[in-house]
Amino acid sequence: MGHEAPGAQREFKVFLGRCQTYDVQEIQGVIARGLDELGVVVAGENIVIKPNLVFAHPVHGRNGYTRPEVVEGLVRCLRQRSAGMRITLVEKCGVGVPTRVMFRRAGYYGLSRRLGVKLQPVEEDYLAPVTLEKGKVHRSLRLSRTMVHSDYLVFMPKLKTNVLSGGVTAALKLNMGSITDRERMQGHHHQLDAKIVDILEAACPRLIVTDAVEIAAGGNQMTQGGYHLGLIIMATDPVAHDLVAATILGLDPGKVGHLQEALSRGYGPPGIDAVELTGDVTLEEAGTVVRELIQAEPILVHDFPSPMRITSGQPYCAGGCHGVFLDWLYMIKDRQPHKIDRFPPLQVVIGEPGKVVEGNVLAVGRCACESGKLRGRVSRIKGCPPTHRGIILHMWLRHWILGPFVRAELVADAYLVYPLIQFKTWLKRLFTGGGRRNVLGKGRQGKYGTDGRTGHPAG
Ligand code: SF4
Repeated sequence: MGHEAPGAQREFKVFLGRCQTYDVQEIQGVIARGLDELGVVVAGENIVIKPNLVFAHPVHGRNGYTRPEVVEGLVRCLRQRSAGMRITLVEKCGVGVPTRVMFRRAGYYGLSRRLGVKLQPVEEDYLAPVTLEKGKVHRSLRLSRTMVHSDYLVFMPKLKTNVLSGGVTAALKLNMGSITDRERMQGHHHQLDAKIVDILEAACPRLIVTDAVEIAAGGNQMTQGGYHLGLIIMATDPVAHDLVAATILGLDPGKVGHLQEALSRGYGPPGIDAVELTGDVTLEEAGTVVRELIQAEPILVHDFPSPMRITSGQPYCAGGCHGVFLDWLYMIKDRQPHKIDRFPPLQVVIGEPGKVVEGNVLAVGRCACESGKLRGRVSRIKGCPPTHRGIILHMWLRHWILGPFVRAELVADAYLVYPLIQFKTWLKRLFTGGGRRNVLGKGRQGKYGTDGRTGHPAG
């Protein structure tokens, strides 16, 4: 596929298509109009679609993933226009849990059977290293080989709020699910914005089709509530797309760190004013609907109302300890709000506190754990940052706060199914030569790099 010249008008065009329901035919029609408006021809034999399946659960995670009906609408539309495509859905869900389980809970296996598309969890695929030229956190990354070898990459985010990434998760943040768990946690702190943009160099979609029929907002990225917005958002440039997505959520794109980082590296349009909007709904109209529903701008963790006294030390890591703990608080608020008033009166310290903190202290993250200023009865959650899983487990076992994710099937997923899958994949990579020997060499990294292979301006 050819590279579109930087600044070409259609790169920065965003289509806002009205779509009132999750009816596949309606979705297919909207996507067909969007493709025509954007002038997109999806071509190639090997098409990879990456949805957002960070977490799906029939009780606790009903709103935070890309609905299969939207994926089905796109697949049917593509197949109608071009026969013979091999379509694979590639995804890595949240850290430490198996993606195949999320595919099942989100209803993707039925989609796979009906349409003959393949489901490929990243953690079960061979990996391909991609060298980065502009990376600040990463010099190289290992991505799913299926994704790296694809002819055409489509991102299908869910529009939702996320306290870890400046209030919005859309096309750029979706890329966190393109890499392995281990690399996902590297630099997942005050450098998260730079990290997100690093991955863009390795995996940049040529088309974005976003499920905003219902958005998820106002709480934890996995458990928050759903609100009807009635939109499908489409674009060919992920930065242009996310500038619009953030604005729809009522955020100032100038305050969203990863968007500013992308713009500063020369990706995308110069700003939202350079984005051409098309479709059925204006930006003002979409934004007004959202403003009436939610407050997207995340609060600071120490402002979260609860019996816990939270001290935010330095650095303030919205993408790290502070954000992950805030996300845990929101998880309780989303699913079990009655429990918040019954929290123990802990002194929670996140980051290096800069002063002595005494009493029943909970240190969250390495900076707090290694601080010499904590006195009294101190429990520690280690990591930079700790994982959601680590916080959930610690709060349960040490402070008797039984969070919504402490359920037999979720514990089995994390501590039984996932390790077994990892072991099986390790054996597969070891014995079928798909590990070190078959990965892309350094000279191939341009496929998804800065040479325009994905249609992204080299900047
Ligand atoms: S330990 Fe936590 S507060 Fe310290 S740098 Fe890492 S993420 Fe930030």
